[in-house]
Amino acid sequence: MRKIIVWFRKDLRIHDNPALWEASQQGVVIPVFIWSEEEEKEYQTSEASKWWLLHSLLALQQNLETKDLSLIYRRGNSLEELLTIIEQTHAEAVYFSERYEPSCVMRDDVIRTSLISNGIEVRSFQSNLLFSPRDLLNKKNEPYKVFTSFWKRTMQETVLRPLRVPEDMIGYDQHIPSLRIDEMGLLSTNHWADKFHVYWVPGEKGAIARWEEFMEDGLSRYVTGRDIPSADAVSLLSPHLAWGDISVRAIWHSAKGLNDTETAAYMNSSIDAFLRQLIWREFAYHQLIHFPKMPYTPLREQFNVFPWQGTDEEFIRWQKGLTGYPLVDAGMRELWETGSLPNRIRMVVASFLIKHLLISWVEGSRWFQETLVDFDVANNALGWQWVAGSGIDAAPYFRIFNPIIQSRKFDAEGEYIRKWLPELSKLPTKYIHEPWKAREEELLAAGIDLGKTYPRPIVDHSLARSRALEAFAKVKNK
Ligand SMILES: Cc1cc2nc3c(=O)[nH]c(=O)nc-3n(C[C@H](O)[C@H](O)[C@H](O)COP(=O)(O)OP(=O)(O)OC[C@H]3O[C@@H](n4cnc5c(N)ncnc54)[C@H](O)[C@@H]3O)c2cc1C
Repeated sequence: MRKIIVWFRKDLRIHDNPALWEASQQGVVIPVFIWSEEEEKEYQTSEASKWWLLHSLLALQQNLETKDLSLIYRRGNSLEELLTIIEQTHAEAVYFSERYEPSCVMRDDVIRTSLISNGIEVRSFQSNLLFSPRDLLNKKNEPYKVFTSFWKRTMQETVLRPLRVPEDMIGYDQHIPSLRIDEMGLLSTNHWADKFHVYWVPGEKGAIARWEEFMEDGLSRYVTGRDIPSADAVSLLSPHLAWGDISVRAIWHSAKGLNDTETAAYMNSSIDAFLRQLIWREFAYHQLIHFPKMPYTPLREQFNVFPWQGTDEEFIRWQKGLTGYPLVDAGMRELWETGSLPNRIRMVVASFLIKHLLISWVEGSRWFQETLVDFDVANNALGWQWVAGSGIDAAPYFRIFNPIIQSRKFDAEGEYIRKWLPELSKLPTKYIHEPWKAREEELLAAGIDLGKTYPRPIVDHSLARSRALEAFAKVKNK
């Protein structure tokens, strides 16, 4: 019987996993996960992502064990590790899901060529996106630069139906050396991420449970609630999607299956809005493939010479949620506590860093890379470049979010602010968005000593806005 290595990467699931499925149909399955040198370097500071990966791997291991397969853990150079396993097992083929991060694309090309020259069959599958990000080009055969056109194009394409979990797989029946999971270098030494267990259940079962819960309660409110941080109307699937705990094709088809003429109009518009977000994820990968420098380089060149001027101290106050603007601070505290924050609040805190503090989006993006459980190189770069105005289909730079108006609009009663800033919890709603406007006795009654228990604003909004526009004017026509 043929022996086939299934090299798991960002597809840590057994449902709709074409590499696993194909291998299971042909012979003996040898599941392997390699924490490669490049990833170890790239994720060096990403404690939140590594926490997720570790627990998602454990869940995958358990899932595979129910099918009599054991997951082999390796750490080091991916090609060398694969060649060693091939030597140890006499495997004849390696199957894996494609990855699109620039460093992985190059590495995988080298591995593919080398394995083929060693007489090994190599097959890779598109499994973590709805469409291959290379295939969709516009009429001029160029990448799409505008989301709406990309969205319309995707609506003409067919999304493949998800594959079932393979039944009756055959595992390799002899010992293959494997590291223990605690030898993979994924365990955090500072225990900061340990508390994430309170908020998240990584792995395939956790993802499916989350998705089912969202379909029952959340999805119908998505279109009206997705921007309201206290509405509990978003899927929270992003970390599961980042590591492939769940198949995006499965999500797509089950959401689309609910969308029909029988369903109430509000439900259909919610489903459409949700599917549209999944297409933003596709658009992010489409951009990453065609503009691989996007994670750290502005796509609009004039932003290369932007006169950033924020200080280290201001950056630290932003990281710690001590800017004196409650909505911004609530978002940054939630990020530190849970490893995530809602999309609307990501836009608010990112805009504040870039435009109110004039600190480069690259710094903010690095901080998100360190702290987000759902850190995703394509989505993160797209998000930051969108807010900065340096992306190809981005918010214009001169559109500067007013953190007070955003707060009044999306957290009208201050529920979100009170949850993450307990020091402001007793402040009347009238002042919750601008504590500095409360009178001394009102602050005292709420137990606030402004400047001590909660900071005064780090910058004045109007001055910051004029300063940002002046800075932008310097690069606008470059
Ligand atoms: C500055 C900034 C940084 C971001 N960094 C990341 C990141 O590192 N990883 C990440 O997954 N998302 C990132 N996003 C996008 C978005 O904020 C998150 O995907 C979303 O908040 C995740 O919550 P959810 O799963 O409940 O999303 P839902 O609203 O339920 O959406 C469903 C799925 O669609 C995708 N999606 C939703 N919104 C977007 C979007 N704007 N762009 C791309 N895909 C989207 C996600 O995969 C998400 O899980 C960033 C956005 C901004 C503004």
